[in-house]
Amino acid sequence: MTERDPAREFVRVREILRGAAVELPPVHGVAKMLAIFLRMENDSEVSRRGIEVRFLARESFYYFPELGPPAFQRLLARASICPQGQAVSFRLETADVDALMGHHGGGPRWVWIVPGDDVVFMWVREAKSAGPAPSEPSPLPEPPPSPRKRFAHLPQPLACPHCERAASVYRAAVDGWICCSPRCGRSFTPPQRVRRAAELRYDDGEVVREQTPRSKIYR
Ligand SMILES: [Zn+2]
Repeated sequence: MTERDPAREFVRVREILRGAAVELPPVHGVAKMLAIFLRMENDSEVSRRGIEVRFLARESFYYFPELGPPAFQRLLARASICPQGQAVSFRLETADVDALMGHHGGGPRWVWIVPGDDVVFMWVREAKSAGPAPSEPSPLPEPPPSPRKRFAHLPQPLACPHCERAASVYRAAVDGWICCSPRCGRSFTPPQRVRRAAELRYDDGEVVREQTPRSKIYR
């Protein structure tokens, strides 16, 4: 196996998008890479740093750079597109998406590819209506807000069993309490009498209301 070289793979992607017939070494995982590009809506960037895919507005994932060139080659061949360095957009039908991914589960997709000198953008969206891709993709959905952190407030300080620092506030997680000392951060199971005496509050100070008699939160 040759050494991983994101900059070389980026050059190959750009050549492919200019219409060059690039000879590529065989590589495993191209269908998986295409499934990542096509199964869910995403914004992708290919650059000298590698392949970055965002599925929600703020979450990025990185993939092996050598999968970029063969994935773009197969995608363009399947869409019967011979680009010459310009931005392209096209529609892939379900049969094309499934063939590229190597399994069922995709529906029709709109794809936009915008090649630049330093980065190639590719955006994939579900084709929500018949016809070609609109001029621009819709923005990706925002990720759901992360759950609020909960803290156990104690009437008497309790020594952390790990670092022995006495504290009257611990982070209350589902499976235990977490020491808030930046040098510790370890979790433990608090004694039951201490747990009962504790009051649970969110990080903004609001008291946690128990949803059920047996809350999942450890207290
Ligand atoms: Zn500690």
